[in-house]
Order: sequence, then structure tokens, then C-alpha cells
Amino acid sequence: MHRKGKSNYYLDIAQAVAQRGTCLRRNFGAIIVNHDEIISTGYTGSPRGRKNCNDLGVCLREKMGIPRGERYELCRSVHAEANCIISASRREMLGGTLYLVGVDVQTKELVAEANSCSMCKRMIINAGVEKVVIRRTPTEYEIINVRDWIYNDDTVLNSLGY
Ligand SMILES: [Zn+2]
Ligand SMILES: [Zn+2]
Repeated sequence: MHRKGKSNYYLDIAQAVAQRGTCLRRNFGAIIVNHDEIISTGYTGSPRGRKNCNDLGVCLREKMGIPRGERYELCRSVHAEANCIISASRREMLGGTLYLVGVDVQTKELVAEANSCSMCKRMIINAGVEKVVIRRTPTEYEIINVRDWIYNDDTVLNSLGY
């Protein structure tokens, strides 16, 4: 855990981005920064042209009480990290940092245990992003080296473990 500084500045921006999210369960905001420049932003939202969870008044994952990390296909949203990545070119993202903030829609509290799902981890790895910084409290955050996901994270594997 670290305190204050540039990272919290970027996390504040990612949190503002999360406010645009449209899921009824949890909204995430992500920004990719490279060489102190914001390359792209993304929030939790439905594929363009499709209705959002909040338009329909229901998120199936929320309604069915699906546990964290499971059955993401039931929510119509494209994840913040994915939206962020498809807005940028790989060349811009190479060596960059993705800042991620999650906000619980009901409580408006930060999602202190937030982490990217296994599909987003795979995309982040292939985008060439080097670090992911996740907000834990308004002033504290965790820095993840994407290399650790490549070499030490079994959730990046499939459910059978390969
Ligand atoms: Zn949803
Ligand atoms: Zn995800």
C-alpha cells in the first residue's frame, strides 16, 4: 500500500469515469496512462446500440445473486478495462499503466477488493500494459505488475487449470 501522489490523481480520474457506468451492480472506471499522458478511458457499459442494465432496470447477475467472478456473460456490460483497451492502439498502450476503480452502485462505496476478471486480465496482458493500479481506499491503492498475472495467476487459465 502507498499513499498520495500522482497515482491518486489518476485514480480520481478513473473514479470519475466510473460514474458514467451503466451496470446496476458495480461500475468500474479505467484509464490507461503512458508517459504521463492519458491514452484512453473506459467504463462499464453495454455494447454500443444495445440497452444498458440501467435502461432495462435489471442486471441478471445482480438479480440472480451470482457470486463475484462468475458468469459475467449474464451481465450485458462490456467491462471498463475492455472498453479502455479497444479505444487505444497497442503501440500506445505498450509499457503503460491501467488505473482501475470500482464503485458499488447500491452503497456508493469503493469496491475495496476490486480486481480484473480473468478475461480482462488476458486482454490487459495482450494489450502490452505493464502495470495495473487498483484503488483500495480513497488514498490507498495496490500496484500489480502484469508479469505476475502472466506467471503466477491461475485465474488467467481456464477453469480446468490449463
Ligand atoms: Zn450488469
Ligand atoms: Zn473484466
